[in-house]
Amino acid sequence: MSNTSIRVRLTIWYGCGLALIMILFASALYLVMSRALEDQIDHSLEDAAMAAARSLEEHRFGPFLLLDDLAQAFPELALLDKFFQIFGPQGQITLQSANITTRNIPLSESAMQAALQGEATYESVRFQGGISIRLLSYPIKHGETLVNILRVGTSLRPVEEMLNRLVFVLLIGSPLAVIVSMFGGWFLAGRALRPVDTITLAAQRIAAGDLTQRIHTTSADEIGRLASTFNDMIARLEASIRQIRQFSADASHELRTPLTITKGETELALRKERTPEVYREVLESNLEEIDRMSRIVDELLFLSRADLGEIKIAKEPVQLDQLVQEIQHQAIVLGKDREVETVLGTLEPTQVVGDEWRLRELFLNIVDNAVKYSREKGTVEINLEHANGMAKISVQDNGIGISPDEQKLVFDRFFRSDTARAHAQKGTGLGLAICKWIAETHQGQIQVESTPGQGSRFTIFLPLLGQA
Ligand code: ADP
Repeated sequence: MSNTSIRVRLTIWYGCGLALIMILFASALYLVMSRALEDQIDHSLEDAAMAAARSLEEHRFGPFLLLDDLAQAFPELALLDKFFQIFGPQGQITLQSANITTRNIPLSESAMQAALQGEATYESVRFQGGISIRLLSYPIKHGETLVNILRVGTSLRPVEEMLNRLVFVLLIGSPLAVIVSMFGGWFLAGRALRPVDTITLAAQRIAAGDLTQRIHTTSADEIGRLASTFNDMIARLEASIRQIRQFSADASHELRTPLTITKGETELALRKERTPEVYREVLESNLEEIDRMSRIVDELLFLSRADLGEIKIAKEPVQLDQLVQEIQHQAIVLGKDREVETVLGTLEPTQVVGDEWRLRELFLNIVDNAVKYSREKGTVEINLEHANGMAKISVQDNGIGISPDEQKLVFDRFFRSDTARAHAQKGTGLGLAICKWIAETHQGQIQVESTPGQGSRFTIFLPLLGQA
């Protein structure tokens, strides 16, 4: 059944449901009809019996020995569809109407007993050959004495014929109604499911590699919502595949540059005999490029392990003001060559929860960038304050700055602005992506504000101890 299409399944379920309803409806109709017809027969028997009883009383129970007398006394007997019998108080038959031709229908024991109690009895009798009749045995009393039992009977054939006709109509009509409705259901299910086919076709084209495909929908119903969710999903998939492709291209490019430099320099050096000093220079330059490559590989490895959730972050109290002071000392060393000065502004005593080693890496990266992208003899200022239950660490430089468009990209993997490439050769473009990851895994965030040519400020927010 799981291979069968929804359309077929819907139609089958619909057909089965309708068939069940039809069966219940037909049975109820048959029962109600037969009951109503039986009631109608019983009423007419009762009316006839009452009329006959009245006549009997009027005639003061005189002897009706001739059928003609009987017919004269009871005009009701002339009714063709009924017959009459009059029994004596012992149940012996005294008179019966002429339309009882072939059969003698004796009084049953139960009807006799009921008559003695003064009660009327209804009975249905079926004769061999399939003829059924309905009988009413009605006691006629004089005072407390039972003088006669009047029996009125009628054939049930008209009722049976009517019921048979009803059964015939139901047997033919119900399956016909079910079949016609199933065709209707099949058609409607087809119409309702057509948009699903459209989605399937689009999904097939996407699966074949065309991620630009979208499902065109204008409706806001369930199918419309499914289509727009599907479109969103494909858009995200397309974006992440583009990102992965971009990432691979950037990674290869960043690794190829130092490799090309190393290869070129080595080949050049080997072309002729060189002095030991030249060899030394080439080897030193190669070592620098190898260092850069291994930094790229280390950082890439870190980021991919972070993506896989393999990097564990300690959750210990960290004395942030102390850490910031240590970073400042390292920044002074880093800035010595280009005479970049690193100073501390505000330094509030601060404790946060986290991984001291990772936080050190985060601040060192930011401060290293600030020194690296500063102009010669520039100043970097570090501030540590509290703001809205967070520790706020800002690193301000007056270096090359970042254009507004590039500010959105600086945290992307391998992003390096052209100005930055021209300013500082060293760099992998992965440092800020790592910083962002560290800040966010500490429930914090990192922001950048910058004016090109004037300087940048990187601000890191981390929850204070007790607030995380
Ligand atoms: P990189 O190794 O190139 O410094 P990062 O990920 O640390 O890589 O930084 C990404 C880019 O962001 C840099 O290449 C540079 O363009 C820009 N950037 C980062 N910090 C600064 C800063 N203090 N001043 C100007 N530009 C910066």
